[in-house]
Amino acid sequence: MNQPNTPSTPNRPVTPITLDELPLRDELRGEEPYGAPQLEVPCALNVNENPYPPSARVREQMARAVSEAAGSMNRYPDREALQLRTALARYLGFGLGPEHVWAANGSNEVMTHLLQAFGGPGRTVLGFSPTYSMYPEYARNTLTRYVAVPRTHDFRVEAEAVLAAVEEHQADIILITTPNNPTGTTTPVSVIDEICTGLARVRPQCIVVVDEAYQEFTEVPEDSALALLPRHQHLVVSRTMSKAFAYAGGRLGYLAATPAIIDACRIVRLPYHLSAAAQAIALVALDNAEEMLQRVGELREQCQLLQQWLREQGYQVVPSQANFCLFGRFEDRHAVWQELLDRGVLIRETGPEGYLRVSAGTPEEMRAFREALTAIAPTTLKERP
Ligand SMILES: *Cc1c(COP(=O)(O)O)cnc(C)c1O
Repeated sequence: MNQPNTPSTPNRPVTPITLDELPLRDELRGEEPYGAPQLEVPCALNVNENPYPPSARVREQMARAVSEAAGSMNRYPDREALQLRTALARYLGFGLGPEHVWAANGSNEVMTHLLQAFGGPGRTVLGFSPTYSMYPEYARNTLTRYVAVPRTHDFRVEAEAVLAAVEEHQADIILITTPNNPTGTTTPVSVIDEICTGLARVRPQCIVVVDEAYQEFTEVPEDSALALLPRHQHLVVSRTMSKAFAYAGGRLGYLAATPAIIDACRIVRLPYHLSAAAQAIALVALDNAEEMLQRVGELREQCQLLQQWLREQGYQVVPSQANFCLFGRFEDRHAVWQELLDRGVLIRETGPEGYLRVSAGTPEEMRAFREALTAIAPTTLKERP
């Protein structure tokens, strides 16, 4: 009998084809897969994770939920993820129901759904830079034009400037990140309100996405753009379980909006995009919301102490309401990043020239960071860029 994979002609070594030789889309040529370096280090302060893993009790519940889900793994999962969306709506409050909530594998997938539905060829999305480095990639992957509109010198977003930019670029979607990554600066709900009200006049079809990935870390988390949903039907508020919720590994992002926007996401999503296991574990996490979020206050406090300490050392620090902060400015930020890494402390080389971003961690991690930075004593620049 012939083995199915045995060629009838003698084996000739074949040189593996390279990416350059493949008929890749032109706009993907020369692109690198995105992502912060994933390195094994004692002190990882580079991707704004919550450093505290779930308790043994919650882990056991998660294991039990997966075991139960495994009992019907031969069947497709609930395509509408109704139970999960109900739990997410209950968590958000503001009178929201499952019909107002959409969920996917991380807010990266939620954002992709929004751009697939409302962006695409001939359409434009605006981001307010410096901001989340993934947005241009979501735009590229959905063939949407991305325009970066600069923030103010102190990294704020102003309503008049946003409205002017929307008109100038004929934007179809705008992405406002609050607290913003990598700056940590916030955009007040009153400003979002002003933007939505102004858009109803100048470009009523424009979708406004407010990315509140770090909302739970802010001083008043209830002060959310969710409050504006009943009045602004083109508004979308995006959230994630990756940061405050200590659930980055679970990959669960979600949004809240008027039901028609949820319907738009349902059209473009891949069928059964949330696996039975993903839905089951996320439900356990949400059932234990209080415990999952119990370190948020402490991390917020660590972040405020960290900013204060950095200022005392003479660094420029952008005032942050999130669980990370941007500080500098360094003559050679890459050298500082590398020297910290050599001492087992991994932070992020991102943001405007000369700045580095560090996440809030455990008290031990914060001590390790302070000691490493003190040991390096890097050269800083005094003036702003
Ligand atoms: C981390 C982060 C997210 C979360 O992404 P996930 O895909 O849900 O892990 C979303 N938006 C911003 C601005 C972030 O920094």
